[in-house]
Amino acid sequence: MTVSLEKLRAAFRNANTTANRGNFRRYGTDKLEVYPFWNIPVDSRAVVRFLPDKNEDNPFMFILPYDYHFLTVGDKSRLFPCLRNYDEDCPVCAVSNSYYKKGDEENGRKFWRRREYLTQAIIVKDPIEHEDEETVYEGTVCVLPLRSQIYKVINEEIESGDLESVPFDFEEGYDFFIKKTKQGKYDSYNVGSRFASKQRALSDDEIAVATSSMIELRELIPEMPDVEEMEKFVNAVIMGVPVDDEDEDENDEPVEVEDVVRPRKKKTEPVVDDEDDDEEVVNQSVDDEDDDDELDAEAILAKIRARRKKD
Ligand SMILES: [Zn+2]
Repeated sequence: MTVSLEKLRAAFRNANTTANRGNFRRYGTDKLEVYPFWNIPVDSRAVVRFLPDKNEDNPFMFILPYDYHFLTVGDKSRLFPCLRNYDEDCPVCAVSNSYYKKGDEENGRKFWRRREYLTQAIIVKDPIEHEDEETVYEGTVCVLPLRSQIYKVINEEIESGDLESVPFDFEEGYDFFIKKTKQGKYDSYNVGSRFASKQRALSDDEIAVATSSMIELRELIPEMPDVEEMEKFVNAVIMGVPVDDEDEDENDEPVEVEDVVRPRKKKTEPVVDDEDDDEEVVNQSVDDEDDDDELDAEAILAKIRARRKKD
């Protein structure tokens, strides 16, 4: 009985993850699998060894910051890379800023960009109990999309001057422990996650797998999204009216506020993991004053229209 219940739970978890991804490809390449470290059991730890970015011009050498927006309207969610990744003005950031300027923090947060720190690493020890025996991460190079908690740990340890060499050095680098603990209701990764205290040289096998699998981290950044499509979705979120994907071309103009029946605000689901403490706040439903929303929406839509004309 227990076994089938576990399987059922896993099926639901997978379904939720897929739904959350919407119709957007999360990363720009499938060359590496993503290691889902957020699925390690509470109080266990994974051991990984970060590898350098193949692009030697990356100033962070083994980490690439990546910003995105996760927007939800009705039962549709979309993930859009922030246009700042491509050195362009981002309409979603602009909407977020307008809300913040008006003192509407809740809507400001809803549109605010989120950040992942993209890394690649050899999975040295994987404590996840995989139901599918074919899933083997140990000994392979995977993508690890880190959030602020682990990033801060790495940052502090590098700043501290305690490391004798860069952590991703094949000979003199350090393994990294990702530990998951429960802090109150939430999973936490900043208690016990750290670099190993001793350096470790990679084995010949590890060096072979690293050199044959490593990528330029910027390959992970998806292609720049279509700006009009992005703005259309933003309009829909502001209005609270789901976009109709079937007839892409028909409804380019935003719906007038007066014609709109607002659906009840729904809680948004966390994206893939709920590592980031900031996000918990975003996910709490808060009563909002709808009258103010409409005023804001009109002003912001006007801005988006003006911007589009300018281009
Ligand atoms: Zn943005």
